[in-house]
Order: sequence, then C-alpha cells, then structure tokens
Amino acid sequence: MPRIMLLGAPGSGKGTQAARFASDYDVPVIATGDILRKNIKENTPLGRKAQGYIEKGDLVPDDLVIAFVDSAFDEADARGGWLLDGFPRTTAQAEALDALLGKTGKKLDRVFLINVPKDELISRITGRLLCPVCGKIYHEKSMPPRKAGVCDLDDAVLIRRVDDNAETAKSRIAVYDEQTKPLIEYYAAKGILTEIDGTIGLEKIEEVIRETLG
Ligand code: ADP
Repeated sequence: MPRIMLLGAPGSGKGTQAARFASDYDVPVIATGDILRKNIKENTPLGRKAQGYIEKGDLVPDDLVIAFVDSAFDEADARGGWLLDGFPRTTAQAEALDALLGKTGKKLDRVFLINVPKDELISRITGRLLCPVCGKIYHEKSMPPRKAGVCDLDDAVLIRRVDDNAETAKSRIAVYDEQTKPLIEYYAAKGILTEIDGTIGLEKIEEVIRETLG
C-alpha cells in the first residue's frame, strides 16, 4: 500500500481528495487539521494549546504537531500505507518526517501538489461546509448537500469551520506561501513530486493519482 502526501494551499481540495483516495486504496488518512479540531472539540491539553493558532490562521508549533503525528503513525502504519493531509507544512516538519520514517526503514513514495489559483481558493474556503459527525466536506455552491445545510450521510446539521472566513483564509494562504511552499522544492529535489492542476475536477485528479501510482 502506498505512503503518500497531499500538498497544496488551504482550499485546494486536499481533504476532499484524501477521503476519496482512502476509500479507493483502503489506507488510513492522517489529517493533522482534523486531529487538531478533534482535540479542540474534546478540550484536551493539545486542543487548548492549538486553538489560538488555528483561529488566527497561524500554524501550530512544529514540536506539538510532530509529537502527535508520531503517535498517529504507530496506529496507522500497522496497515502498511497511509495518506498524509496537511502534514508536513514546514521544512522542520518535513525533516522530522524523514527522520521518523528512517527509524523503521520506510519512505514517502510520492507527494502530490494540488495547484489552485488564489482567488478560487478564497471562494472555495468561504463556501465550505463540514459535517461535524462524519467529517464529509461540502461546498454551498459547487458541492451542495442534497438537503440544504444537512449531511447526506448522517443528517447532521453542517457547520462552518471557525477559520473559514475571508480574513483568516487570506492569512492561511499567506502562511502557506511563506512556510509550506518551500516543500515543493524539497520534494522535487528528492524526485517524488507530482504536480496536478486542482481545477480539472475530482474524478480527473483521482485518475492522475491512480495513473502515477500505477
Ligand atoms: P487547510 O488545509 O484548509 O488549512 P487544515 O485542516 O489542514 O486545513 O488545517 C487547519 C489549521 O490547523 C491550520 O491553519 C493550522 O493552524 C493547523 N494545522 C494543521 N496541520 C498543521 C501542521 N502540519 N502544522 C501546523 N499547524 C497545522
């Protein structure tokens, strides 16, 4: 089973694609944003530390994130493959990931960079709706639920993420440009980067991923 990572700006569709990939390939998704939001909801010590950063659109400090990814790997890796969504997001995190994998002789097979123009990112983010129960992602215009405001799968009332407003979205995109974009070069240099146009549609993106992985 493959070990892959999705790289892309906030709103580029990583979460939506991750869910589809996980069911196609039967691999667990390790999504650091989801793990952090769960910890905030459950008011854990990690959640209390992370909340302020997330609400401002800043990154949570590397040491906190690296520590919980390490333990998420212990569970997910038992199945032989996984998909990382939203991690690594800084060069320090990428180096920590290499070190973590190196300990057990494993490596990342491929990184998919999903490219979406900046103005489209903002409209995707500000229209995003999320099921608080199953995590399914919708968009009020481009991917609406069958019944307005309600999840197709479990009838829960859909919510908006606190950081999905225009102002916070702009800072998240700026943080991506500054801190995460250097990873494009990092993985290109390792020869494991595949770039995908994020506007070609979910099915087509899935096809590119499948063809690339062979
Ligand atoms: P998006 O890709 O739309 O920004 P995520 O759910 O991946 O959504 O992330 C939401 C927020 O969670 C980020 O803005 C950041 O504050 C925090 N976060 C998620 N992953 C990381 C990470 N790897 N390092 C630091 N902070 C993170």
